[in-house]
Amino acid sequence: MTPSMTSYQVEAFGRPLAQVLRDIPTPQGTDVVVRVGSCGVCHSDVHLHDGYFDLGNDVKLDMTRTVQPPRTLGHEIAGTVVAVGPDAQGVKVGDRRVVFPWIGCGTCSLCEAGHEHLCNSPRALGAHRDGGFASHTVVPHARYLIDYGNLAEDQACTYACSGLTAYSALKKVAPLGPKDPLLIIGAGGVGLSGIRLARQLFETPPIVVELDQSKWDMAREAGAGQIIDPKADGALKALLKSTGGVAAAIDFVGSASTFNFGFGALRKAGKLVCVGLFGGSTPVVPAMVSMKAVTVTGSYVGSLQEMQELMDIARSGVLPDLPLTTQPLSSATQALEDLRAGRIRGRTILKAAA
Ligand SMILES: [Zn+2]
Ligand SMILES: [Zn+2]
Repeated sequence: MTPSMTSYQVEAFGRPLAQVLRDIPTPQGTDVVVRVGSCGVCHSDVHLHDGYFDLGNDVKLDMTRTVQPPRTLGHEIAGTVVAVGPDAQGVKVGDRRVVFPWIGCGTCSLCEAGHEHLCNSPRALGAHRDGGFASHTVVPHARYLIDYGNLAEDQACTYACSGLTAYSALKKVAPLGPKDPLLIIGAGGVGLSGIRLARQLFETPPIVVELDQSKWDMAREAGAGQIIDPKADGALKALLKSTGGVAAAIDFVGSASTFNFGFGALRKAGKLVCVGLFGGSTPVVPAMVSMKAVTVTGSYVGSLQEMQELMDIARSGVLPDLPLTTQPLSSATQALEDLRAGRIRGRTILKAAA
């Protein structure tokens, strides 16, 4: 029997993923075929599976043009190179690699400036092209494959989305000195990555805002300093009094209330980085932006160069492990359901049978 490839793919939005068996692809040109060992399940997989992103206030982002079924989701991929195309250079069969999935067209001005992740004609794995909810995936060029050294494979894969998203957001507020407090809003999966990276990049532990107190222990373990319940009476006032306002705030939630908390916590010339996609809307007072001379900026995943920098840090072994649970690849639909229902703590990693 010839070895085959198993994929769990979206055939109709919102329906259980379909198991599909086919031959393992033969790599063309610079293609590299990776046998997927570990693939993280991300909140955006839930939205891509639904076919829309509910941003609240009746605003729905249509995902049906991004994902054209049949499509295999999964963009946090780590595995082993099993075949290389005739023009592929820089990797060989047997190499263990994590995949940078945020691939662009390669020719537009954003791509040429190194911002492939912001390309308007994206070819992202697990969205526009088939991803890692499969035994194998095809990566179009070896430059998107990064060595993960001695890291555990199921940890390594999480750097491709949750780790990279946190790192890119933190880079936008660097450098921060000992007198420049950093506020991190939200201690979910990406927020936790942000906290543990902040401990690595900056001298002072971040102040963390999280309304779900059951997440406080994990936030503390990740390296949070003070933790604030934003619903507590006078929480913002007390923070402003004790810090004089923070130098930077990163909103990993992205709701109206977290935006307002982050914006309100800034000192003059402070910076608010918006990362989360929870949804909602809120008025902004332009005169306050002027008078406080603040910067509000967005951050979406991260660049290939940032991923290489992040993997340099990760390979050195200084980052604490991300809490995660593993499930067999065949449970992909269930894993999406669990995430949708909020039953997940930390990250779920799908493991293909070896
Ligand atoms: Zn993701
Ligand atoms: Zn492009």
